[in-house]
Parts: sequence; structure tokens; C-alpha cells
Amino acid sequence: MIYVHIPFCHRKCTYCAFHSAAGKHDMEGYVDALCRETERNAGFFGSSQQPRRTLYFGGGTPTLLPLPLLERIVQQLGLHFDISHLEEMTIEANPENLSPEYLDGLRRLHFNRISIGVQSFNDGELKTLNRSHNAQQAVDAIKMAQLAGFDNISVDLIYGLPAQTVDSWRRCLSLVGTLSIQNLSCYALTIEEGTMLERQIETGRVLPADEETVVAQYEALCQWAQASGFEQYEISNFCRHGHASIHNSRYWRREPYLGLGAAAHSFDGNNRRYTPPDTERYINGDYAYTWDTLSDKDAYNETVMLGLRTTEGIAKERIAAWWMPQLRQSLQPYMENGLMEETSTHFRPTHEGLLHADGIATNIIQ
Ligand code: SF4
Repeated sequence: MIYVHIPFCHRKCTYCAFHSAAGKHDMEGYVDALCRETERNAGFFGSSQQPRRTLYFGGGTPTLLPLPLLERIVQQLGLHFDISHLEEMTIEANPENLSPEYLDGLRRLHFNRISIGVQSFNDGELKTLNRSHNAQQAVDAIKMAQLAGFDNISVDLIYGLPAQTVDSWRRCLSLVGTLSIQNLSCYALTIEEGTMLERQIETGRVLPADEETVVAQYEALCQWAQASGFEQYEISNFCRHGHASIHNSRYWRREPYLGLGAAAHSFDGNNRRYTPPDTERYINGDYAYTWDTLSDKDAYNETVMLGLRTTEGIAKERIAAWWMPQLRQSLQPYMENGLMEETSTHFRPTHEGLLHADGIATNIIQ
């Protein structure tokens, strides 16, 4: 798995705590630095040149990059890694950047999955979030992507927005049902430190959603997904059968990945590595990697936390033998009250258990 981070945005959304900046961007300089970092990491996965299975461009807004710059990155990756047999090649996109020409260009570069940051189909809500598009642009972008030949389209939505009612959320989901997309990622709005949204709430300009409404919206989402033929495969992710994100599913199974770009994280199976969230430093070639070695306990906790958030659950084969009695014992009360169940290969949350995944994780991690 390879992840490429593009930290540029047209403007900053109120809730956003990702490493991304609006304004004037040195895109050429950034792509130069990415190409150098790619070369430097050619041996990341070891000496054997096994084919990579997924490639993911995230951000920020990768679709702000002109096609020739995207092409340079893909070519450079192809020089240093075997990306000739990718099962999934995803790009995150914002609706306002997409045109038929640009989408055709993405297809020519072999992107076969596009993840569109819609967030809401309500113009008032989009305005509150300081998004750069309106609802009609989002619908048009999805249709354009379909016309360009994308048959694996993911849409991101946010619920728990200020002033968003359960009815308005249901209307948003109904519209999704008319769009023939394959994956839906729905996140509850979180108020992150240092964001514009945090300041708006602190100064009383915006009222956060109450917990009851957020829970009702999540329940409405799960009911809608089930009625509309979307399978839930992670707490926030739903797909048409056979269209679960391969790349993200591998993150949740703790498979190794290489992250390239400012603020990108990597994982080699035992250690995590990240570059500082500083684009200027990155452009100047200062990658300043920080490595964190995961202890046996860290690895156990990660496996449990990530597994609990997926319908697949915690794979027994990924739990070291000496942790198994402890895990079984801590899950026992949840199996008795119907929040968890055991199969021959997994401990997995039931539908009800998924709603409580984070609470269960907090109680059982070491
Ligand atoms: S487009 Fe995405 S990355 Fe950029 S500011 Fe908005 S939420 Fe953040």
C-alpha cells in the first residue's frame, strides 16, 4: 500500500484539522520533493519488488494538482515500485475541481476509484462548513465521474452538523440513493482543537449538535443503508457488495504501508514513521522522519481497537497467543449482552455492538 499526501486546499473548511493549507502553493516544488522522497524510500518494503496492491492520493485536495504534476508522481512511483498490478488506485477529490477533461486525465493515469468530498447536499450546511462547492456541483461531479468511466465512486458525508436536523440528514441520504455510487463514508462531526469551528463554538456563534440528535442521525444512517442495499463494513463506511475500500480495509488490518508527503505516516509492520506537518520544510527536502517503535502491548491495543470498528472484527490470528486469554475474558461480558460474538476466526461486534465500539475498546485495551 502506498499513500501520497497532497497538502493543498482551495480554502480551509471550518472543521478541518488535517495538514492542509489554502493560499498560494508551490506545487512544482512539492512534487519535486515527493519525487525525491519516493526515490529515497525505494527499499521501504524490503529488497523483493513485490507488486503493490493499492495506491491512494489523499489530502488536502489532490485534484488541485494539474494533471502533468500528478502524472510525474505516478511515473516516479512506477520507477521505484511495481505498480503495474494495482487492484485499487484512489484519488480524493473535491467537486469544484472536477471537469470532464480532468476526469478523463485521471482515468488515463489509471485511477479506478474516486472519493469525492461532498460532506452535505444542503447548501446552508455547506456554507456553514466553508466548503467551496454547492450541492448541485456535488451531484454534477458524481455524474461527470460516472460518464468518465469511474465505476467505483465513494462519497464522504458528515452528520452531527450544527443546526442539522435528523430530517435534513435523511433528505441528504435519500439523494445519495439516487446517485448510483458504490461507497459511502459518513463521519460524525468532531470539534478539533485549533479549528475555526472550535473558535465559532467558543464564541457562541455556532451551536454544536446535541448528542441525542447525533445518535438519531447515526441510527437513521444505518437504517437507510440497510434498506438501500449498502453493507456496513466499518463504523463509518458502507458499500455496495464487493466495493469495500481495499486500501482502507488493509489499514484496519494493520498491513504495512508507505506514506509519502508532508505529515504522511508510514507503518512497516512494527514501527510507525511520520514527517512533520510542515510543507515548506518538506519542499526544502527536510523529511525529518520520526520513528515510533510499537511495543507488544501497543500492537495488541491497535489490533483490538481497529478490529472493533469493523464488521469483520478482531482476527484471532493477529492476536499473540499470550494475549488471547486476556482478550477472551475482557470480551466475555459483551458476548453475554449481545454486543459481541465469536466465530472460529474472529471476535466481531454485532450491529448493536458497532454502535458501542469505541466504548468497548476503551474498556478493554491495556
Ligand atoms: S477540503 Fe478537506 S483537507 Fe481541505 S480544508 Fe476542507 S476538509 Fe480540510
